[in-house]
Amino acid sequence: MSKEIRVRMAPAPTGRFHIGTARTTLYNWLFARHHGGTFILRIEDTDQSRSSQENVRQIMDAIRWLGLDWDEGPEVDGPHAPYFQSQRLQLYRDAVDRLLAQGDAYPCYCAPVELEERRREMQRQGIPPRYDRRCRDLSQPDRERLEAEGRPRAIRFAVPDEGTTSWDDLVRGRVEFQDSELDDFVVMKSDGFPSYILACAVDDTEMAITHVLRGEDLISGTPRQIHVFRALGLPLPRFGHLPMILAPDRSKLSKRHGATGIDEYRARGFVPDAMVNFIALLGWSSGDDREILSRGEMIEAFSIEGIGKSGAVFDAEKLEWMNGVYLRQMSAEEYVARARPFLESALGSVAETFEDDYVARVVLLEQERAKTLAELPELTEFFFRDPEEYEDKGERRWFRQEGAGEVLAAVREALQALDRFDDAAIESAVRAAAEKLDTKAGPVIHTTRLATTGRTKGPGLFELLAVLGKERVLQRLERAEQYIRDLG
Ligand code: GLU
Repeated sequence: MSKEIRVRMAPAPTGRFHIGTARTTLYNWLFARHHGGTFILRIEDTDQSRSSQENVRQIMDAIRWLGLDWDEGPEVDGPHAPYFQSQRLQLYRDAVDRLLAQGDAYPCYCAPVELEERRREMQRQGIPPRYDRRCRDLSQPDRERLEAEGRPRAIRFAVPDEGTTSWDDLVRGRVEFQDSELDDFVVMKSDGFPSYILACAVDDTEMAITHVLRGEDLISGTPRQIHVFRALGLPLPRFGHLPMILAPDRSKLSKRHGATGIDEYRARGFVPDAMVNFIALLGWSSGDDREILSRGEMIEAFSIEGIGKSGAVFDAEKLEWMNGVYLRQMSAEEYVARARPFLESALGSVAETFEDDYVARVVLLEQERAKTLAELPELTEFFFRDPEEYEDKGERRWFRQEGAGEVLAAVREALQALDRFDDAAIESAVRAAAEKLDTKAGPVIHTTRLATTGRTKGPGLFELLAVLGKERVLQRLERAEQYIRDLG
């Protein structure tokens, strides 16, 4: 492609940054990076009552957390600044003035309550509810009278009665809408702010956007925008509408299917590389069967042709699996750095009081098992707190055995004698203790595990004892011996 590719992500800061928004961001970013183009972040904050600075912050945090970046936009700026629509009102007003002067738009004085009443009436009659164009043909004196009354007014686009509006969608192929089905949509609200349809079209032109990739839920706005582009004599970008993200039952993915906000996944211990890889495959495929792709591989393989037409099913289990893959292949250093905040927020000062090296050894022991970082506090709690109780099942099976106390005493003595407290030394000491007791190693290992961790499952016993350290292990064994004595 010869023309520089310019794409944008244009979120309204009215809610959380969810999976669907992340996917639109990612596809635009991948497309730009693949073609050496420009990725723009534009904040569509024209809905004054629902937009907030806090949401803008969340959007930017989420994009950055995913490891994506924008070339033009808030905090980066660029030749088309400002990148907040609320700071670009004059542009929209000029466009609306032109539409009014050309007769492509007209003032509408209908009050919201009246519109609502008429909507309901149409619904009652089984007519698809839409604006009845009451103000479209107002006479000049009527207009003047309403103006003189100081009636608030919105500006509506005068959609032609007949005709079709169509485009070659990059994902869906030819898409066609009958103009007779389009409402006379609002281009400027009575508060003087533009509607999404207008502001978005004006900015896509002003920012020289070449490709508009956005969710299919916005497709009904596209014919309206095309009318605006045409009326203003502006060139059209290419449009591509991404398939919906579906729940496993193939309904539209929503809150009731579980977490949808990127911040929720972050809090639940998913890592950015896994999220990005997973989200990339929600509607796109590299053309081969690869599931695990690095960012570089995704950029290289990304193409709009690889985006499917049908909905993409969100498979939470696959995401967990993928997160586990990324956790296992992470460098020890990164793993520890990402894990620590999870331990601290769940275990509080307990985790803060341990040496870095100890915390690192603890979490690395679980690197193979954990699917999310949020599982770590529960998996590793016994490294930071002495067990207060012993799992019931284990207690019945091991502590209530004849001679359980002697087993622990023998292990304790064998470990006490060790100078080097590492996996290999611990293993031979425990096995030697079993031999001396003339029992199998299995029960000795299980009983020791229960005594030192309170649990019946966990990482390999010898490794975990080595991490716990000699002093802690001996103390815990002694406590468990006492506990068994008390069982009587
Ligand atoms: N601002 C619109 C929204 O958040 C999206 C604009 C677009 O991508 O065209 O729904």
